[in-house]
Amino acid sequence: MTEEIVVIGAGVGGTVTANRLQKELNREISAGDVRIRIISDTPQHVYKPTWFYVPWGEAEPEDATRPLADLIDRRVDIIYDRVTNIDTAAKSLSLSDSGSIPYDYLVVATGAIPDIEGTPGFGADGNGHHFYNEEAAMDLRAELSSFEGGRLVFSVVEMPHVCPAVPIEFTMMADARFRELGKRDDVDLTYTYPIPQLHSVDAVDEWVKPRFADRDVTTYTDFNFASVDADAKVIHTEDGDTLSYDMLVGVPGFKPSSLIADSGLGESWMEVDKHTLESDHAEGVFGVGDVTNIPTSKAGSVAHYAAGTVVSRVAALARGHTPRTTFDGDAICFLEAGTDSGSHMSFQYDTEPVIRDETEFVHWAKLAYNESYWLTARGLA
Ligand SMILES: Cc1cc2nc3c(=O)[nH]c(=O)nc-3n(C[C@H](O)[C@H](O)[C@H](O)COP(=O)(O)OP(=O)(O)OC[C@H]3O[C@@H](n4cnc5c(N)ncnc54)[C@H](O)[C@@H]3O)c2cc1C
Repeated sequence: MTEEIVVIGAGVGGTVTANRLQKELNREISAGDVRIRIISDTPQHVYKPTWFYVPWGEAEPEDATRPLADLIDRRVDIIYDRVTNIDTAAKSLSLSDSGSIPYDYLVVATGAIPDIEGTPGFGADGNGHHFYNEEAAMDLRAELSSFEGGRLVFSVVEMPHVCPAVPIEFTMMADARFRELGKRDDVDLTYTYPIPQLHSVDAVDEWVKPRFADRDVTTYTDFNFASVDADAKVIHTEDGDTLSYDMLVGVPGFKPSSLIADSGLGESWMEVDKHTLESDHAEGVFGVGDVTNIPTSKAGSVAHYAAGTVVSRVAALARGHTPRTTFDGDAICFLEAGTDSGSHMSFQYDTEPVIRDETEFVHWAKLAYNESYWLTARGLA
């Protein structure tokens, strides 16, 4: 009997998982003992970190995407459809257009969705900008290029959000860019964060404090949006304070697909064991990447490393062995510190990150990684 392994979602986590499973189970696939299928609701694979560079004109939207068929190994079957329900008792998936399909082992990698409409100031009622899709990133590019001065407020409105480094990187990039353009004295660069420090990771908080001070960034912590008066361009906080802005850019809240709660895999985020990445609620079901509730950053590197653990565990199960590989929360994040320098940090669940001084070399290493990402997605690195 053929063991059916199905991956839902073809972002970083799903694509790396499917390609590596194919390598790991090559012999079993050839013998007809295993079949791997990946279900994607889009024919394009998106490398989301590119969106960060688009508003600054340092990348174009087309740099962010590749046809999924060019990235997934030909021995993995791709189904272009949307999963609408997971029946974990019957081990079966319902799809929008293609009926239902069975699974023996399931990997859920459906990511996190920016909750634009649900975030004060960023939905239909607001005029806040973000860069979490192509259209928004291009709109922001137009706004930034015509911004002559005034208060630019960059706000992390809600948590958790994807990529822990982005708020710091955007602020430092804005500082560097406006300096290059000779406009920095005309821009009051203001950063707000919803907890009583500049970043939720203590080491980042320590690293960024002197750097924001050197760059004359005005900061507000414990700053929680209650509402935004988009006509008056004023943010009202839960504490009753107000902050006016000329341009508002920010990180909205994020949420998982409703598929997770609807299928009983978690009340909100998919609930998994943080070491085995197996569902708390269903046997043979694993979670990879932003969709999970594991206590670490929602980052591509986490999805990549977690995929390695899930591949090893699913392959062991498919062969009738006991899985032994576990995940310790491995993460590595680059931190761009402007237009020509960067730093990086790596950490695990139980290891605090150490952040070194920024260098030009690390900045170029990040840009090089962005170029070589397409090999990572193919499971080659
Ligand atoms: C601007 C920006 C900058 C970033 N910078 C960095 C960085 O520098 N470093 C870093 O490590 N991370 C960074 N990240 C975060 C990183 O992109 C994410 O953590 C990563 O994409 C998560 O991968 P994933 O596979 O979990 O989810 P995703 O990449 O979001 O993929 C999920 C996929 O599942 C599909 N899907 C969802 N529901 C269904 C369904 N029901 N049926 C079928 N398919 C479905 C979606 O369409 C999508 O293709 C950044 C993110 C952004 C937005």
